[in-house]
Amino acid sequence: MSTTHLLGFPRIGAKRELKTLLENYWKEAIDEAALLQGARELRQRHWLLQKGAGAQLLPVGDFSLYDHVLDAQLLVGAVPPRFGFDAAELSTRQYFELARGNAAQPALEMTKWFDTNYHYLVPEWRADTAFRAQPERLLAPLREAQALGVNAKPVLLGPLSLLWLGKAKGQAFDKLTLLPGLIAAYRELLAALKQAGAEWAQIDEPILALDLPQAWLDAFAPVYAELAPAAPRLLLASYFGSVAEHAPLLKALPVAGLHLDLARAPEQLAVFLADYPADKVLSAGLIDGRNIWRADLSAILEQAEAARARLGERLWLAPSCSLLHSPFDLAAEIQLDADVRTWLAFAVQKLNELKTLQRGLNQGRAAIANELTGSDFAQRQRRDSARIHKPEVAARLAALPRDADRRASPYPQRAAAQQAWLQLPPLPTTTIGSFPQTQSIRASRAAFKKGELSAADYQAAMEKEIELAIRRQEALGLDVLVHGEAERNDMVEYFGEQLSGFVFTAGGWVQSYGSRCVKPPIIYGDVSRPQPMTVRWAAYAQSLTPKPVKGMLTGPVTILQWSFVRDDLPRGEVCRQIALALNDEVLDLEAAGIRVIQIDEPAIREGLPLKRAERDGYLAWAGQAFRLSCRGVDDATQIHTHMCYSEFGDILPAIAALDADVITIETSRSDMELLTDFGDFRYPNAIGPGVYDIHSPRVPRAEEIRHLLDKALQVIPLRQLWVNPDCGLKTRGWPEVEAALATMVQVTRQLRADLKQPA
Ligand code: GLN
Ligand code: ZN
Repeated sequence: MSTTHLLGFPRIGAKRELKTLLENYWKEAIDEAALLQGARELRQRHWLLQKGAGAQLLPVGDFSLYDHVLDAQLLVGAVPPRFGFDAAELSTRQYFELARGNAAQPALEMTKWFDTNYHYLVPEWRADTAFRAQPERLLAPLREAQALGVNAKPVLLGPLSLLWLGKAKGQAFDKLTLLPGLIAAYRELLAALKQAGAEWAQIDEPILALDLPQAWLDAFAPVYAELAPAAPRLLLASYFGSVAEHAPLLKALPVAGLHLDLARAPEQLAVFLADYPADKVLSAGLIDGRNIWRADLSAILEQAEAARARLGERLWLAPSCSLLHSPFDLAAEIQLDADVRTWLAFAVQKLNELKTLQRGLNQGRAAIANELTGSDFAQRQRRDSARIHKPEVAARLAALPRDADRRASPYPQRAAAQQAWLQLPPLPTTTIGSFPQTQSIRASRAAFKKGELSAADYQAAMEKEIELAIRRQEALGLDVLVHGEAERNDMVEYFGEQLSGFVFTAGGWVQSYGSRCVKPPIIYGDVSRPQPMTVRWAAYAQSLTPKPVKGMLTGPVTILQWSFVRDDLPRGEVCRQIALALNDEVLDLEAAGIRVIQIDEPAIREGLPLKRAERDGYLAWAGQAFRLSCRGVDDATQIHTHMCYSEFGDILPAIAALDADVITIETSRSDMELLTDFGDFRYPNAIGPGVYDIHSPRVPRAEEIRHLLDKALQVIPLRQLWVNPDCGLKTRGWPEVEAALATMVQVTRQLRADLKQPA
């Protein structure tokens, strides 16, 4: 018999119950006892669901009230001292203050969990960080599970990954020097779990899928040699990529099993099967935990059978990674397109696939003949579906000339052609696109969606909002205006809804961080644009003003990155399809008189593969897709792009290669350090570094903006510099937006005047 297990389950709940609990607790509609009771019930329901679906060894400790990396820090008692909290006595209120900040201290920093769209809270390490195990934090849920009669497997983030993911604060030091103290805490935790009756513990070391420095790789053997003796049987889990290069190291570790992500990296199975140690379990992550496509059971079973022949019962079956990254239950999607629905599997369906796979393996293919037929049929139907394959899309891509992604003239020539009609002053001012999504905008959209507002009335309501935005920008004296994006709920959804090849779920939520969830569109087929998507709004805005209005599009890479993407085409190919669909829009905007067009790519950095060796390939197709989206525009049409909230310093050549005429970029996170990078790199085109943070209602002071602009002028030539906020303003209110932009424009005017005066 092969054991089935899972690495983690979506904790947010089928109906986002955790979100409701958290938000009610935060606004004091429920008390702490109700929150904790609600969370306990949710955990228990999820365990029973997993057990009912036939999973045999269930994760415990994967549930979190906010974030599992925060929980891992707390398990070893590492609370940043700046909060002044006692790790052993941490209250629920204090827990959320770490996650969300309080009056005195900003929250822990948040960043992306590997290449997913989940954000974790970054541990803060100091040279003198001390660790003290807090086993009760994990023992409590373990007891809950045991009381339910669940076969429980505690899950911990491994010590090396926890350490790696944290940031060194204070005096510089090598994070590895913290290992001895950390290991002592882990030993105590693991011993407590063993004592409490846990037979197995899963210890996640996802950093194994990164390019690790040798010193970190060398740490694995001694660390696990120290941990194993006092611990339950350890299952060391890797995911999100291949760990084949570390096979000799991993096979020699004193752990009782290894988990491999065979959805992302199926080829590593063969490497591990070759002299796999006789004392270890191998957990095959065959069901894709990160995507929403139904498993190809026949193909997967074949792999499982090969592994089974070598390993016998030491082969375990699992999803590739925690199901945290998968939506909850497809059964709730009653309105979804019927064809597409048969091609999908969410977390609950993945549990069933796992169970089926196990039966097929244990009892032979005949035992799951019906399921195999169903799976084969769905695969075939998807492969051959006319809904997916639009020959004209492929043909159009194939027919592109080699230099399809090149602008007609080099930047200096284009800049001159653009300035000839734009006649912009030095340091042109603009914004990033969205203006406040006011109550009135949201009410109109909700009424329209419910059918209470006719299309004509909705359009009229949006036009009123656009007019308001234009008048306000004119009054502020901005140079390049925007229509304000009132009609957009979300920058990807808005386009996905109008492109073919996309479907949307009603409840396919995935946790992004804390109580926040996103509902990614599903790209299932060839992408094209049946009709213009934004032209009407942009053209209306332009009709109201003699000032140039900038059209706003979400770029191909960002649309791809924030969707679930079909797995039957390379991502680069899907991205190029989106690019051509957007190109249709760009050319229609241009024809409608919109001659400044911004193509937002905030997600370009996060698509970067985990392994360095794959990065250039990604950047090449991502850049090509961006350039294809503005294919064929006139020299005089000015293409902007926008990026934010990522480390861009190391991909500057790729950003420059987009060849956008202007890039507006968020800089508040690095106090314009980024600009030094741009300066050193000699960024060739124009650049608008954000001059104020848009995350708080705080209105920047004139001196702050002036300081940033003076700093910018030291590294960016005057003729290349634009002035704008960090990002879109949709989460703000109008009073602070008007005050902040008025200050921005006034400072810019003063600076222009000062620059005219010879010093
Ligand atoms: N144009 C978008 C806006 O202003 C850009 C948002 C983003 O960068 N995430 O809202
Ligand atoms: Zn932005």
